[in-house]
Amino acid sequence: MTRPKPLDRADPAAEAVRPLTYYHATANAHKARARLQGEHQADVCVIGGGFTGLSAAYELANRGFRVILLEAASIGWGASGRNGGQICTGFSSGMARIAAQLGREDAQRCFRIAEEGKVMIASNIAEHGIACDLQWGYLHVAPKPSAMDDLKEMQEEFDAYGYGGTELIDRDALMARLQTSAYHGALREARAGHFHPLNYCLGMADACEESGVAIFEDSRALAVEDGARPKVMTAQGSVSAKFVVAAGSAYLGGLIPAIRRKIMPVGSFVIATEPLPDDVASNLIRDDEAVADTNFVLDYFRMTADRRLLFGGRCAYSGFIPNNVEPWMRPRLRRIFPQLADVKIDYGWGGFIDITMNRIPDIGRVQDTIYYAQGFSGQGVVVGTVCGRLLAEAIAGQANRFDLLARIRHTPFPGGVARTPLLVLAMMWYRLRDAIS
Ligand SMILES: Cc1cc2nc3c(=O)[nH]c(=O)nc-3n(C[C@H](O)[C@H](O)[C@H](O)COP(=O)(O)OP(=O)(O)OC[C@H]3O[C@@H](n4cnc5c(N)ncnc54)[C@H](O)[C@@H]3O)c2cc1C
Repeated sequence: MTRPKPLDRADPAAEAVRPLTYYHATANAHKARARLQGEHQADVCVIGGGFTGLSAAYELANRGFRVILLEAASIGWGASGRNGGQICTGFSSGMARIAAQLGREDAQRCFRIAEEGKVMIASNIAEHGIACDLQWGYLHVAPKPSAMDDLKEMQEEFDAYGYGGTELIDRDALMARLQTSAYHGALREARAGHFHPLNYCLGMADACEESGVAIFEDSRALAVEDGARPKVMTAQGSVSAKFVVAAGSAYLGGLIPAIRRKIMPVGSFVIATEPLPDDVASNLIRDDEAVADTNFVLDYFRMTADRRLLFGGRCAYSGFIPNNVEPWMRPRLRRIFPQLADVKIDYGWGGFIDITMNRIPDIGRVQDTIYYAQGFSGQGVVVGTVCGRLLAEAIAGQANRFDLLARIRHTPFPGGVARTPLLVLAMMWYRLRDAIS
């Protein structure tokens, strides 16, 4: 079923020439892993070494499965090692869309599943001593007065799903916490936050190996031969397994055609400033929260452990990320923090977000032996992690929770020549809506 298509533009090989990210420049000491060579056997072959693949591999190995994980580039090379590092609550779609498809009770189960992802991250960090600068606290900020109503609705939804304790903050109180006059207020969560996502992934790769997972880097799956015992082919080797888990997300390209059009790779850009003087850094975001605005094309930012402002945003629907993202991002940074107009930008990069049409994750089976999870739509840190567990549960024969999310229907994106122009049009509409509503 799966002869490889030509390389996708959202492809690790194409990314290899990109500039260094802040995360790669500050990665904990880690080893390079060998390329897959020769023929191998496993219970499960996991494709992709990001949050989802690492979590699935770890959870499977701890259930007694022999697991081989293939990563096309290096651990965390995809979105997992280049994101905003924000540990978010719930799903990118919000809960109403999920409830509309599954009913209120099952939507509640989905919300609990997402919350479990946070617990998994915290306990993996504690259990394996992963140094990744975990910090709790999150501010959803209102870029226009009408967005305060959205934040109230968000709070009501959180309350209705049993996630209490959030706090609405007015403009003056927010300005004491966040040194900008750009926002009209905020919703504060104590139980969401931020961390260094690449260091988390590197720590989880070590934890996987301690649990018996064999990890191969520079080992792109080029084809998956389906059947009762699928076989994954790389340039120099193969893995024959009882099950395959596809966790390549926006970077999977056309490897598994049946799931390709259910997501769209959308570029998002991030910059990291030079380290800021102590007094500037400690006042910019007083309580060191992660911050994101409520726009569809949102800005998100936070401080790093070494006092840089890490600032992300923008959406690129063309499939290309420019080598120099600073000209795109500096004006956005300046609009929020004019006092940083002349700050030096030390790092700038981009990555591909795996969006679905309805912004709800897309998980399922291509056939009985091939499972996948993708489409986290900008909130894959937590949800990708917990989906790794759901994949493992399903393969181990307890598919209740996996099937709950797999029941959600997804509309594929248009293919062929219409794909990009239609998305650009949709994008223009959302930008317009951000500006006028
Ligand atoms: C710039 C940016 C900012 C973001 N900010 C946030 C945020 O703050 N919070 C949040 O929750 N989410 C955020 N996201 C989304 C989040 O990063 C992703 O949803 C999440 O990392 C997806 O994890 P994953 O493991 O499913 O996929 P990925 O991390 O993309 O990993 C897929 C891996 O599979 C590998 N791969 C692909 N094809 C193959 C193949 N054929 N063979 C072998 N390996 C293959 C790739 O090299 C890659 O390493 C952001 C994304 C981006 C790009």
